[in-house]
Amino acid sequence: MESVLLRNGKTVPEVCRILKREMKRIEMDENMQNGSGYKRYHIHAEKAGDVDKWPSRFKVDVKRSGLAKLIVGEVFHYGLKNKDVILSRPCMYGVFSGPVGGFMPREEHCVGCLRCTTEFPDFVRVSHNPARRSLGDSYFDFRVVDSVSYEAESGLVPVKGAGYRGKFGGEGWDGMWTDMSEIVRPTRDGIHGREFISTVVDIGARPNFLMFDEGGKPMGRTPQVFQIPLPIVFDRAPKSVANEKVWRILAETAEELQSLAVIPLGAVLQFNLESDFVVPLVKASEADALKVLSKAPRLIEMDGWDEGLFRAIHDLFPESLVALRIPYTSAKELIKFSKKGLRVFHLTANYHGQDAKGNFVLDLIREAHKAFVEAGIRQEVTLIGSGGMIHAEHVPKAILCGLDAVGMDTAAIVALQGRFKGECLDAETAQFNLPGKLSMKWGVQRLVNLAASWRDQLLEIMGAMGLREVRRLRGEMGRAMFMKELERDAFAGVVGYEPGK
Ligand code: SF4
Repeated sequence: MESVLLRNGKTVPEVCRILKREMKRIEMDENMQNGSGYKRYHIHAEKAGDVDKWPSRFKVDVKRSGLAKLIVGEVFHYGLKNKDVILSRPCMYGVFSGPVGGFMPREEHCVGCLRCTTEFPDFVRVSHNPARRSLGDSYFDFRVVDSVSYEAESGLVPVKGAGYRGKFGGEGWDGMWTDMSEIVRPTRDGIHGREFISTVVDIGARPNFLMFDEGGKPMGRTPQVFQIPLPIVFDRAPKSVANEKVWRILAETAEELQSLAVIPLGAVLQFNLESDFVVPLVKASEADALKVLSKAPRLIEMDGWDEGLFRAIHDLFPESLVALRIPYTSAKELIKFSKKGLRVFHLTANYHGQDAKGNFVLDLIREAHKAFVEAGIRQEVTLIGSGGMIHAEHVPKAILCGLDAVGMDTAAIVALQGRFKGECLDAETAQFNLPGKLSMKWGVQRLVNLAASWRDQLLEIMGAMGLREVRRLRGEMGRAMFMKELERDAFAGVVGYEPGK
């Protein structure tokens, strides 16, 4: 069906998508005319189960003789009428409820509650499945894969019923905590929808002040911004999975969420992906290809700095915003670029959240943010960052450190059940395997679910901080605490304390 071309050169699904978009627009226009233009932003999550069978989280080993003895005892106690109950014991999650009960445990249902092994230590043993660990790499480890796949499947927030048993501090993101002491009624209600917490962010350039001529008309620089209702954009997919289906999934998800997807210009043109929600990523050598675009994109991303390309974009699409995609760099360099007229920066680290010198993204974001604060132009620029942000909690932490919006990269691939092949460090070299049964509808729903879950977790954290707008979270360092600093304050001078350890 995808290959059938209509007379206008578009495929049937493309025409359906355009119609859907137009209907949405008409509905919004009608609402505006009726005076009911306000519509609360809502992400529609819906269960989207796995299409690829992943190794179960746990291995459940049962000694058959012990189990047989238990069942015989149960039969004497309850009688044969309660066969289903007898065969399902001792697991309430259905691991022992298959056609032959615990003789063939259904490990995929095991949640690791350890009830069985606690009650019957003689014949049940539950352990981690080593095959499950191979789903991620050293940074995106299997625990994160578990969280992300649960979020993408359900759209819900993962809850650890038995309480958090991990560490309360550590390296990287774990060395930063957030201050939740400002919990107040209106923002608490915001989490449950009785009040509203805004997750809208501005993308673009906002001058520090406006100037007006004698007639009251604005003169000089005026704001050039648009808004997206979520501080999450989809970053370009790694090369190993960059195919038509993946680009379409990213473009359609961005449209569904009214967010943005960064897609190389070649793919945008080849697969007809132009829309308000797609950001073409352009190399210096592709300046001429830009002429093929049918309308000005809201945002165009330059893949590295090139004076000629910058000028070409301005000449062709003066109304488009231009973002510069570069690895995190020094304050001096960033200010130099801003003096050239750039106002949107997409700063990148590798998939493990590090720059070429091994600095971690959390510190890199703070440096970039500080550079613009000290230059007095932080309000004038937009900072988007990607690389190393793989957990829902990394979004508020990155925004606290100074980003306006976060680029989602490997998390989106894991949501689509992509498997890591070895260590995955960057878009050029990382190797992922996507499931053969990947379909558009399923893929879009998985990413929508992931975004819904991450947004809910963002609302949760903002609610606890007493903030009603994600724009106020940006750079709000008063709500951030760093483990090393707190330890230094508490233990400096105490025998045995080693700074930085
Ligand atoms: S650990 Fe819990 S969920 Fe897993 S088999 Fe045992 S009782 Fe069932």
